[in-house]
Amino acid sequence: MEAPPSTNKLKQQEFTLASVTDLSSSSSSSPSPSSAVATFSCVNEVTELRFQESESAHGFTFDLSSTQLFKLGPLQFICVSHNSDSVKEDAFSRGVVIKFSDEKESKEFCDSFEEWRKDSVGKGSSLPNGTVSDGKSKFDNKIEAASAKMYFHYYGQLLHQQNMLQDYVRTGTYHAAVMENRSDFAGRVVVDVGAGSGILSMFAALAGAKHVYAVEASEMADYARKLIAGNPLLAERITVIKGKIEDIELPEKADVLISEPMGTLLVNERMLETYVIARDRFLSPNGKMFPTVGRIHMAPFSDELLFMEMANKALFWQQQNYYGVDLTPLYASAHQGYFSQPVVDAFDPRLLVAPPMFHVIDFTQMKEEQFYEIDVPLKFTASVCGRVHGLACWFDVLFDGSTVQRWFTTAPGAPTTHWYQIRCVLSQPIHVMAGQELTGRLHLVAHSAQSYTINLTLSAKMWGPGANQGGILQTSSCKLDLKEPYYRMSQPQVYPVAQETPAQPQDIQIQSDDLEELELLQQNANAQL
Ligand code: SAH
Repeated sequence: MEAPPSTNKLKQQEFTLASVTDLSSSSSSSPSPSSAVATFSCVNEVTELRFQESESAHGFTFDLSSTQLFKLGPLQFICVSHNSDSVKEDAFSRGVVIKFSDEKESKEFCDSFEEWRKDSVGKGSSLPNGTVSDGKSKFDNKIEAASAKMYFHYYGQLLHQQNMLQDYVRTGTYHAAVMENRSDFAGRVVVDVGAGSGILSMFAALAGAKHVYAVEASEMADYARKLIAGNPLLAERITVIKGKIEDIELPEKADVLISEPMGTLLVNERMLETYVIARDRFLSPNGKMFPTVGRIHMAPFSDELLFMEMANKALFWQQQNYYGVDLTPLYASAHQGYFSQPVVDAFDPRLLVAPPMFHVIDFTQMKEEQFYEIDVPLKFTASVCGRVHGLACWFDVLFDGSTVQRWFTTAPGAPTTHWYQIRCVLSQPIHVMAGQELTGRLHLVAHSAQSYTINLTLSAKMWGPGANQGGILQTSSCKLDLKEPYYRMSQPQVYPVAQETPAQPQDIQIQSDDLEELELLQQNANAQL
């Protein structure tokens, strides 16, 4: 299906001016300025701005796609445009000075100018006088072009979409969340934010959506069209729009947004920003978001095997005679390099040394800018003695449907998803005793390669008699790049049963409202014992 025609609800809009003065004629004959009317209109798909003097038939018509507005003062502007009267390529620009009698009218004119100009540029008109100054989209302004290119190339391939579709825990939970909340979809307008293969759009259509706009920026949009066309009963209610959420326009507001914008540690890929931009641009007030809320869960872990494996990797650089070459000058850098990679794998929840805590991200409230820096103060109480090797993290999201509230979790011990879990490993482990308090900070800073720099600090407080008077006993920090994870999935995971009383899954308060899910988690953990 083709994209819908661009919105052009406003067909004409008028503003009263105190005066309009033609710049070219004022330089020669300087006619006295006179009161006038400025009219925005759309004629034959061309968006125009016309200035008409009140007391004469004299007027100027500017093609908005090539017009720029410069503010001279609160009430005065210069409006400059390519001279559309001339057919010559090297035609001079033309300009008028316009004045308003009150600031309200002046401001409204300014806002309308932006709106009408966006609309005219959206029509793909040429810009002979150069590009519009703020024409770069929100996405392009914050994301490196090279990163975006690789990112959309990746999602443009069917094999990667298949990988997500074959994550049955993920896709199955989305299907259940939509189907059990049919009343939220039936007869509603839905926007699928980052539609990929179009699967969530089709779920929404199956649940009775009136219309679904499937917005996808990558080449996958073409495959989605093909797949949707092959499901004719759904296709008539789905429109695929190829483009970025930040750039595209929709002909109507949505009642529901559906999306799968989660990355490792929830925030990787920075697509949650796109999700909340879609909310601000397209969702009607009181509209629903599927998912609604996300939570990052964190707990300290102890994993001697993992720690040794990482430390051993750098040992290669300790050779003093590698074909006659001393490699040791790079040992420290290599060691640091390995410890700057977050580890992605599925681990046994018995490795957690304290009950987890979580940080809530409410997709309905969060502002886009709040994703640029996420600061989480950490506080745990160790439930076992041992060496803490770092912080384990995972996430869950809530589909806050009107009928059923369903959680989707990527917790350790729960059915494994393609996100697995993530662990930030400290190069200096911390020793803790059961009951000892661990504090710290997880500080995430977004970067332009669609990911985050992770700064982690963990400290163990004094423990035992007199601890309240004592301060921090040990502290350890690391800096990691979420963009460069170490995928450890191919490694066989053999964990010997711990000698000391482990932090049993039932001790760990998995913060989920879904009892079934908790049961599953426990069954799964028991099965692994
Ligand atoms: N909804 C699909 C795909 C999820 S993956 C599913 O659940 O199976 C996320 C998809 O969002 C990718 O296909 C990616 O290309 C797309 N995407 C990411 N950022 C986007 C943006 N700013 N605008 C439009 N699509 C985007």
